[in-house]
This record gives sequence, C-alpha cells and structure tokens, in this order.
Amino acid sequence: MKIIHGIGASKGIAIGKLTLCLNIDDHIQKKTITDVEAELSRLDEAKAASVEALNAIYMKALKRVGEANSMIFQIHIMMLQDEDFYGSIRNVIKEEKVNAEYAAWKTGRQYSEMFAHMDDEYMRGRASDVIDISKRLIRNLDTRLANGLDSLSSPSIVAAVDLMPSETVQMDKEMVLAFITKEGSKSSHSAILARTMGIPAVVGLADQFAQFSDGDDIIVDGISGDVILSPDEKTLSDYRVKQGEFNRHQQELKLLKGTKAITKNGVQIEINANIGHPEDVDLVLENDADGIGLFRSEFLYMESKQFPSEEEQYIAYKTVLEKMNGKRVIIRTLDLGADKQVPYLDLPHEDNPAMGLRAIRICLDRQDLFITQLRALLRASTFGKLAIMFPMIISVDEVRQIKSLIEKVKSDLTKEKIAFAPDFELGIMIETPASVMISDELAKEVDFFSIGTNDLTQYTLAVDRMNHCISKLFDSRHPAVLRMIEMTAKSAKKAGIWVGICGESAADTSLTEFYVKIGINELSVTPSSVLELRKAVQQIDLK
Ligand code: PEP
Ligand code: MG
Repeated sequence: MKIIHGIGASKGIAIGKLTLCLNIDDHIQKKTITDVEAELSRLDEAKAASVEALNAIYMKALKRVGEANSMIFQIHIMMLQDEDFYGSIRNVIKEEKVNAEYAAWKTGRQYSEMFAHMDDEYMRGRASDVIDISKRLIRNLDTRLANGLDSLSSPSIVAAVDLMPSETVQMDKEMVLAFITKEGSKSSHSAILARTMGIPAVVGLADQFAQFSDGDDIIVDGISGDVILSPDEKTLSDYRVKQGEFNRHQQELKLLKGTKAITKNGVQIEINANIGHPEDVDLVLENDADGIGLFRSEFLYMESKQFPSEEEQYIAYKTVLEKMNGKRVIIRTLDLGADKQVPYLDLPHEDNPAMGLRAIRICLDRQDLFITQLRALLRASTFGKLAIMFPMIISVDEVRQIKSLIEKVKSDLTKEKIAFAPDFELGIMIETPASVMISDELAKEVDFFSIGTNDLTQYTLAVDRMNHCISKLFDSRHPAVLRMIEMTAKSAKKAGIWVGICGESAADTSLTEFYVKIGINELSVTPSSVLELRKAVQQIDLK
C-alpha cells in the first residue's frame, strides 16, 4: 500500500480500478524497424479492429442520437479505408522503416494540416477527423496507449496527465468514478469538470503520477487530496466508512432544498450554479440553485467540428432558458483561446496564449462569429430571464464596441421581424486587474459584474492557473486578490449595480462571510456546491 498526496480538487471518495488514459501526442515513440512486412500486417490488424469498433459505435450512436448525428462514424470508416490516407501510412513504414504507431501519427498530422488550409469549409472540418482516426489506429497498435477518454468500457477511476476540455467533451461521463491527474490545479478545467459532474478528483500529482499503472486498485480521497495505491484491508474498510459518512452529509444537505440563502441578520445572497453544457441544467435543478450564474458557452464550440450555426446555438440557449423556467440564466459569450482551443478556429501560434488572442478579443476581431452568437442569444431571450456576460474585459472601449454590436443585432432582428426580449441584462466578467482598476468607469456601462476569480488570481499573482509546478502559489485568498474583489464590490455599489463571483473561490466557505460583508450579492458555484454554500450563508450573523 502507498499513500500519494496531490491536490483535492473535487470532494468525495471513490474506490475502484484505475484506467490510465495517456495522451498520444505526449507518448508517441519513433522506433526503427527491420521487418517491414510484419509492421504492415500489424497496421492491417489495427485497421480491422478500428473499423470493427467504429461500426459498433455507429450502431450505438444511431440508437441514441439518430442518423444525422451518427454519420460521422461512417465518415471515419470511409476515411480509414481511403487509399490515399491509408496508403500514405504504409509508405511511411516502408520508406522510413519506422513503427506503425509513428507512421499513423505522422500521417494523421500531415493530413490534418493539409485539410485545415483548404478553402472548402467541409474539408476544413475534416482536419480533426484525421487526427481522431490516426489516434484510433494507434490505440489499437499500442496497449500502453489503448485507453481513450472516448472509449471507456466499464466504470473506473480515470488517470490522465491532464484532461483538456477538448478531450473531455467526448468522454462517457457515466463511466468515470473519479479523476486523478498529473498536472492541473484547483481551478484547472479538469477540476472544474469533476466538480460539475459531482465526482471526486485529485490533481497535480506531478512526478508521483509515474507510479500508477492500468488496472491498479486505488482509493481517491478528493477531500484530503490523498490517493491510496493498493490499499490494505483495514484502509479499505476505513475508507468505506468515510465514503458512507460523506454520502450521509450529502443527504443532509438535501434537506436545505427549498430554503433560501439568508444570513441570520437578514441579508439574502443569490446562489447560482455554473454549467458548461445544456445537459448540466438537470444538476442545477437537482441542487435547487436560484439560477445559472455562468453558462460557459464555449463548450458548445468545443463539441463541434466546426463553428456551431446560429440555429444550433439558439436551440441550446433556448433549451437552458426554458428548463430554468423564469430563473435568471447568465450566458457568457465564447471564451476560447488559451487552454480552450478548437482546431477550426485556426488561431496563430502564440508564445503566451493566456495573455493572447482569447475570449472577447477573438469576438471583436472576428465579428461575424460574435454576431452569430449574439443573434442566437437574443432570439432565445424570449424563452426566459436571460443575462449576457462578456469575458476578459480590459477597457471601457471594448464594452462600448460590444454594446454597439448588440444594437446592430437588435436592429437587424427588428427589420427581420424576429422577436427578442426588450429587457435582458448585460454584464461583464471582472477577471483582469485592469478591469478592477477601472471598475468605477465600467460600472456605469453595464447592469452587473461577475468576478472570475480563476483568471483574476492568475493575472493578479502572475501564476499560471494550469501550471502544477507553481500550484501552491495559486491562492485566491491572497490579500491582493481579496482587495481586488473588495474594490470591485465598492465600484458596483457606488454605481448601483449588482456584483457576483463565478470563479471557483465563490465556493470557498471560509470566505463567504467576507464576501457578504463587502457587499457581494451573488455567488455562482458548481451545482454540487450550491447547498453547502447555502448552509454557510445561513450560519452567518453580521450583527
Ligand atoms: C474565471 O476565470 O474565474 C472564470 C469563471 O472563467 P473560466 O474559469 O471559464 O476562465
Ligand atoms: Mg476566466
């Protein structure tokens, strides 16, 4: 038995078998071979296994999501059987005398580059498909790389170097008992995803990660951050007891459903939930949140092979608004870039993407995309209480540009006789030190502020939120961050607008009293933290 310490990123206890999901790009090896024929027949076997698996996935998807949405798997089969593509992999093996894994990887990347630069939109959309296909071949060639997040076959604890949002969107969430990752911090996206799903997670295991192998028996304690490898009988039974206690505590919290987050001295705080996907609304309702404080709309873009159309977005937003039945839904416009990449966006390489072309900067640069999203949002606005929020703001000028684009969309829709709500709120995220420093000016322009403490901490402290080497320095309780929050709250109060927090530290109950004292009106947290936070507010007495 071995106890390994990491960062507890999502509460709960899981006991089970480990599935090691390694990222192919990080682990592909180039090897010289001598027996070309043997290598070619390994490749043929992997191709046959891939086609068989794709056929099975196609049949399953056909039942679940219908013909149109399942076609992609037939396209993958066709591409795999395409003489050009498959022939190129064979040629790399023959000419370079290299292993089939490397040949498939190299060819996949070459074809993807080629597709990405084609004029035809449909062909550009295939750039990520060839990568998917080459990865499938590699998984069938190398048992070490056999597990993919999209091919989990039984419920297990997933171990990965990190979970990028683009990979997790394809994951079968019912198959995941817990996550453990080598990289990541409390506010990295894998941690946020685990909390949204309400499953335990330990992240930032660093070099200790090398000790795990596929099929290991492990315990994940997302509360303490411990991972126990090959637990003995006594530890196992102690943890079963702990797991029972945790589950009982969760049951007790359920008794708070239907109550409000009001302090003993009568201050009411709106407690909302953060979501990334329309399906997450079920978790919001299950946990009785007052509304949705952050819908990270970029996940719609990441699940798609090309930009989601106005109609697709409209349906997603309308579904969420309808399900929330009149409760406030704050939808954040797309926040792509940095760690949230989509291949079809074709962003230039950046040395420092967290400070690069991302979020509102992309929207103001590529206004056609932004207008499509705004049109979808406004059209959906008649189905509930919509508020729209913009990420990564650093200037008043950006807000004015956004407002003038919204006016343009309103006037276009009016001309086209398409209805939209007359009274939706507009807000901005306060997640850069610049926006804090000019929050008095910004407050005159909008209806509300929502403080994104994940990025605000990253930019205030100059600590990369994704970098596990410095995760100890990532501290949303640092006095500099707390002063930033207080300054923002003061500006909001002075201008008479409301202010909330939607970053991960909104759920930190050791800060709840401070937030209430400085005049924070709303806190938005992952659905599984709503009731715990409601309890914390109810215990506060400011008298
Ligand atoms: C934040 O930065 O705090 C935030 C809520 O946005 P995201 O985590 O999606 O960057
Ligand atoms: Mg952010």
